[in-house]
Amino acid sequence: MLRTAASPSVSRHPVRVFEAVVAEVRDLGPHFRRITLAGPSLRGFGVPGPTLDLRVKLILPAPGHPLTPPGAPDGTLQPGWYQAWLRQEQPGRGFIRSYTVRAIRQGPGGPHIDIDVVLHDGPAAHAGPGSAWARNVVPGQTAWFVGPDAAAVTAATPLPEAGINWNPGSARHVLLAGDETAVPAIGSILEALPEHLTGNAYLEVPDARGVLPITTRSDVGITWLDRGGGAVPRGRRLEQAVGDAVARNGVGPGTYAWVGAETGTVGALRRCLVGAGLDPRTSEFRGYWSRGKAGSGANGIPLAAT
Ligand SMILES: Cc1cc2nc3c(=O)[nH]c(=O)nc-3n(C[C@H](O)[C@H](O)[C@H](O)COP(=O)(O)OP(=O)(O)OC[C@H]3O[C@@H](n4cnc5c(N)ncnc54)[C@H](O)[C@@H]3O)c2cc1C
Repeated sequence: MLRTAASPSVSRHPVRVFEAVVAEVRDLGPHFRRITLAGPSLRGFGVPGPTLDLRVKLILPAPGHPLTPPGAPDGTLQPGWYQAWLRQEQPGRGFIRSYTVRAIRQGPGGPHIDIDVVLHDGPAAHAGPGSAWARNVVPGQTAWFVGPDAAAVTAATPLPEAGINWNPGSARHVLLAGDETAVPAIGSILEALPEHLTGNAYLEVPDARGVLPITTRSDVGITWLDRGGGAVPRGRRLEQAVGDAVARNGVGPGTYAWVGAETGTVGALRRCLVGAGLDPRTSEFRGYWSRGKAGSGANGIPLAAT
């Protein structure tokens, strides 16, 4: 956990724009690229607690065009900033895509933030600005993103306003399920879980080379599922694994579920779990991207809590 010396202020918007520098680019096998961000402004970044599934919104320039980041010159934002950003003209507006803070740690010269970006494959592999950025970025480049303003986020700030959706309340049993885009979030959550929590985490990746080291103190079992390099359709193994677990054990009262994946997969898992008795109002179902739909990863698609 990182805090700043600045004193919290309730009047400030909980998120702001940070201007960072790309400190390192490193491949974690063929499916993930770890991009490490640093810079003095990151001293003002953070939440009062573990980052869990904390997302940041990268603001990416349109190729060949200077970016006009949203907000005031000092990076502060006001409520409604996103709608105002949407009203800006392209190409100056650029693109927004959400990514998870996989880790925040002290590095040379101050805080460093790791973001693990999926090098997605398929016909649209190079189409998206997020994907293109990850493939081409080099150390020394500037990166802008919206994230929690440590001087504004207090223990009283609702976590979703800072970018954290993990909220198990008093649940003692959890079920996590995600595809590769949610591996950073599930990894970060698992590493923060307390010992007394039980449950299961299912992570679907393109093939065995997508399995990354994740540890947890908790009693949550980690199951990696791979699509055999395309032999199995996306989401199929996740749906099977969760379906089998539900058929074997049902969904115990007080279970908290957290699901992040392609939107269609999230819908299928939600139907399965809610059909088995899970209360969707106290669980988290979020489409991290939608097949064939550019920009769906700007905010994610929350699946209705009904
Ligand atoms: C809260 C949140 C946290 C996220 N955290 C991460 C993270 O830590 N790491 C990460 O890599 N992603 C993460 N994502 C997902 C990421 O934002 C999306 O995958 C995003 O669409 C990528 O943007 P893009 O510009 O590459 O593609 P877009 O311009 O959005 O889409 C272009 C095309 O690529 C397709 N596409 C998008 N993503 C994928 C994919 N993963 N595989 C195959 N096809 C795809 C789209 O369907 C579309 O056809 C997160 C999303 C949310 C909502």
